Amino acid sequence: MKRNRTNRFGLTLPPGIGALQPYVPGKPIEAVEREYGITDSIKLASNENPLGPSPRAVAAVERSLAGLHRYPEGGAPLLVRRLAETLGVSEKTIVLGNGSDEVIGMLTRVFLNPGDEAILPAPAFLMYEIMVRCDGAVPVPVPLRSMAIDLEGMADRIGPRTRMIFLTNPNNPTGGIIRKAAFEAFLEKIPSGMVVVVDEAYIEFVRNPDCARGIDHLTGDRPVAVLRTFSKAYGLAGLRIGYGVMPPELAEPLNRIRQPFNTSIPAQAGAAAALEDTEFLRRTLETVHEGIDYICYRAAALGLAPYPTEANFVLIRLNRSADAVFEAMLRRGVIVRSMTAYGYPDHIRVTAGTRKENRRLMDVLSDVAG
Ligand SMILES: *Cc1c(COP(=O)(O)O)cnc(C)c1O
Repeated sequence: MKRNRTNRFGLTLPPGIGALQPYVPGKPIEAVEREYGITDSIKLASNENPLGPSPRAVAAVERSLAGLHRYPEGGAPLLVRRLAETLGVSEKTIVLGNGSDEVIGMLTRVFLNPGDEAILPAPAFLMYEIMVRCDGAVPVPVPLRSMAIDLEGMADRIGPRTRMIFLTNPNNPTGGIIRKAAFEAFLEKIPSGMVVVVDEAYIEFVRNPDCARGIDHLTGDRPVAVLRTFSKAYGLAGLRIGYGVMPPELAEPLNRIRQPFNTSIPAQAGAAAALEDTEFLRRTLETVHEGIDYICYRAAALGLAPYPTEANFVLIRLNRSADAVFEAMLRRGVIVRSMTAYGYPDHIRVTAGTRKENRRLMDVLSDVAG
């Protein structure tokens, strides 16, 4: 492979890193408006909060700014205490990260050696594979089955080198959930010597009471590491703060390798305030749930196939090329996500926005794909 050759400085990339494909984020609004010469566009591509950030978080961030000449308190005692109280877990189970993305990397660095295997759903959030490869480990993708995470298929792939298994609940990009009984049956099959990582970036949006929650399994025999974030329901994606909740035997080594100042003073302050802003969370859920129901209703009325979702986005099967629809919507100022890169060339993923944004989204989709 070309990128793996020694370069003119005599440097050779490790094989896992030489083969990496860079993460492709959703298109930023500014880039779209510049490229297409449009204004007034809306971005419903990255599952961000339609209401903006929690106002209490913004106020707390502003108050924190006078202290920016100081290093943050690395352990973030206030935020850790509030998280432990809110979740009903011990403070020893919490690991903070510069986004939950960073916690994924800490887990792979601590628990994967070169040549170890990590089982992951395919398609899945691209950061799992990137982090696994960074540590010289080998991703073992298990395709979705009927558009759901194939827990049985994943358990069947466990081998002597398996050290980690990634699950996403609710799943991205499908929005489906893992049910309690299925998750429990899955854990029963997990031998010792491996970590089950459950990414719950969208768990706050779940309406189905039968959805499994990793936190209910922290004291079980199998090591379950739960990933949560302030980027979605709490509206703080730009602040970069997320966390892991896991048995202390896992959290302790992660906190040892954690960069001492990995979460900033504003991020800690904003996240602690957002946790207390239950009114903002309530309004967010109300807006998102109404938006999801509206988008699904209208997509179905257009003869398209929206998948049932418990997250703040909907995967929609079209009757034509997703890239063409994505492009046509972009020209009309509506940014969605084409799922071609995920292996679904006739699907788009759309994030629930405000009522006004959702109406425009579906009007434009109706014009270009109805
Ligand atoms: C958005 C998202 C995250 C959140 O990542 P942060 O680094 O916390 O912003 C994690 N996992 C999945 C599957 C996501 O879609």
